[in-house]
Amino acid sequence: MSKVVVLTGAGGVLCSTLAKAFAKQGHKVAVLDLKIELAQKVADDITSTGGKAIALAANVLEKPSLEQAKTVINEKLGSIDILVNGAGGNHPLGTTSNSFLYEEDLMSKVEGFKTYFDLDTEGIKFVFDLNFVGTFLPTQVFAKDMIGKKGCNILNISSMNAFTPLTKIPAYSGAKAAVSNFTQWLAVHLSKVNVRVNALAPGFFLTEQNRNLLTNSDGSLTQRGQQIIDQTPMGRFGMPEDLISTTMFLCSDESSFVTGVVIPIDGGFSAYSGV
Ligand code: NAD
Repeated sequence: MSKVVVLTGAGGVLCSTLAKAFAKQGHKVAVLDLKIELAQKVADDITSTGGKAIALAANVLEKPSLEQAKTVINEKLGSIDILVNGAGGNHPLGTTSNSFLYEEDLMSKVEGFKTYFDLDTEGIKFVFDLNFVGTFLPTQVFAKDMIGKKGCNILNISSMNAFTPLTKIPAYSGAKAAVSNFTQWLAVHLSKVNVRVNALAPGFFLTEQNRNLLTNSDGSLTQRGQQIIDQTPMGRFGMPEDLISTTMFLCSDESSFVTGVVIPIDGGFSAYSGV
């Protein structure tokens, strides 16, 4: 049965792939992004291959913007059945330069060098808002359509760092842990109204956001990129397409008794102690 699917951050690498996969299955897709030009391109790709999609500019941190988007979605596609909360990411202001603090770091004169003690509160708040509030608010707005219907699902996007924090990115790690926690909370809260809530925890996918952290300009791996590959038993970065089958499973009746889970899609990263 064709459903109405809303994806936030769907102009981005991972969720544009998921938007196209939903459309391929015959669902009607609302492609939402802060950057309308990115969303429009994804929607155009879908419609040019015979799928049904609309593009909308929406900021996941502003309720009126989400409410406006909902009005258009309801008018053009109908009542919402599935929400994928894909908008998220890190910010350089919430990132330390090194993994570990050494005493001499406090005296460093290197421009831009940041220890934990230099992290900017605004950067930390930006990352918490984007990932946590940016999941909480769209759910408040779009999930109302799901109440009283059957087969409705919410899919959040957590991360590996929600299980064990990654070095350098305390805000992003904490915010994604909050997303996983909220996934469980909401699954319980909405259990009596038949809305299931689950999350994906992608491992390391080479995207524009992390390309400079993981690869050098000549395409070779940075030290961090190499560390990740060494720590990933399957020996590669993820590809956006690796998320499709689990997404379709969690958002369909095939998983009808599954709610409140966070599924790692990580080539074994989270299972491996490194020894
Ligand atoms: P991406 O940067 O390609 O896509 C994110 C999209 O969100 C962008 O198109 C951006 O314009 C949009 N966006 C940013 N702020 C927004 C806002 N306020 N309102 C609406 N849209 C906004 O990133 P991606 O790699 O596709 O990541 C998608 C999700 O997966 C994110 O939540 C990310 O944290 C998570 N994730 C990514 C990886 C990875 O390796 N790439 C790993 C784990 C989790």
